[in-house]
Formats: sequence, structure tokens, C-alpha cells
Amino acid sequence: MSQDQIFNDDDAESDLRLLDDDGADIQRLKLPAPTEKPEDDVDERIARIEFHCSVCNMHELVHYYGKEPPFGLGIRFREDSFVMRDPFQAPPPRWQSKAEYYVALGVKCATCGKPVCKDAACSFYYTQTYCLPCGSVQLKSWPVEAQSKLRKQLAASKQKEQSN
Ligand SMILES: [Zn+2]
Ligand SMILES: [Zn+2]
Repeated sequence: MSQDQIFNDDDAESDLRLLDDDGADIQRLKLPAPTEKPEDDVDERIARIEFHCSVCNMHELVHYYGKEPPFGLGIRFREDSFVMRDPFQAPPPRWQSKAEYYVALGVKCATCGKPVCKDAACSFYYTQTYCLPCGSVQLKSWPVEAQSKLRKQLAASKQKEQSN
């Protein structure tokens, strides 16, 4: 074997090695870099849904409207709700199947469909949630127990208004 031949053989081999490395690079590019979070993970932490209480005018951007917020694992609300992730809690890691802290701010009134918050001065719950203006109209058709409960609530919210 001459020196030349050995040299050529080496060359051919290193060419092959280069091709292999290219292939590996392409594969590596397809995987997300470990330090970067996938984009939708960042996006879902931004509140985009507008919640505006029609009674007290509370205005807030929330993360979710519906019955089963994806971040409240296993949670199912009785009514479609405006839900905000707790801004003061870090989300649990993905692999941990634990519900995140969240706040259900309000729902839509069963009668007029306007959003109302959970404040006692804004909404009343009797089988469904009603805004207080609708509730005070509806209450005549309710059982006495529910009526007196709402009357108490209405009286309390009037007192609150006066003291403000
Ligand atoms: Zn309100
Ligand atoms: Zn209403």
C-alpha cells in the first residue's frame, strides 16, 4: 500500500462522516431547544378575554370562558364562567397533574345574558346565576326560601351603596 492510497482512503471516510453530521444537525434542528418554551405555552398565560360586570363595572381580562378551564384540572363549573389564572401564583410544571390556582370572576346572567361578577351586590345564584336587576324581577316565581334569601341580599347591597 502506498502513502497516497492511505491518504485517499482517509479522505473518502471523512467525507462520509461530514454527511452523517449534516443529517444529525437536521434532526437536532427539528427538536425545540431545551431552554426555550414552546410558543403556545407563553401565549396561554396572556389574558385575552374581556370580562365586564354589567352591574359594578368591574373590568378585567381573563384567560378562559367556559365550564372546564384547562388549567384547573378536573374542575367543571355548573355554568360557563369567566376564569382568570391567579396572577400571583407560578403555574405548576406541566408534568405535575395538579390544578392551578385560579379565580372565577363571574358568569353571564341566565336571563339577560350580560356578564356579572360574583359579588353579592351584583349577582344571585338560584339554580342559575342572575344579575341582581333580573333577579329582583324573577324572584316572584321562585320558592319563598330563595325569595327571602335574595331579598336579604338586595337589602344588604342597598345598605352597602348608602354607606359608600
Ligand atoms: Zn360586579
Ligand atoms: Zn340579567
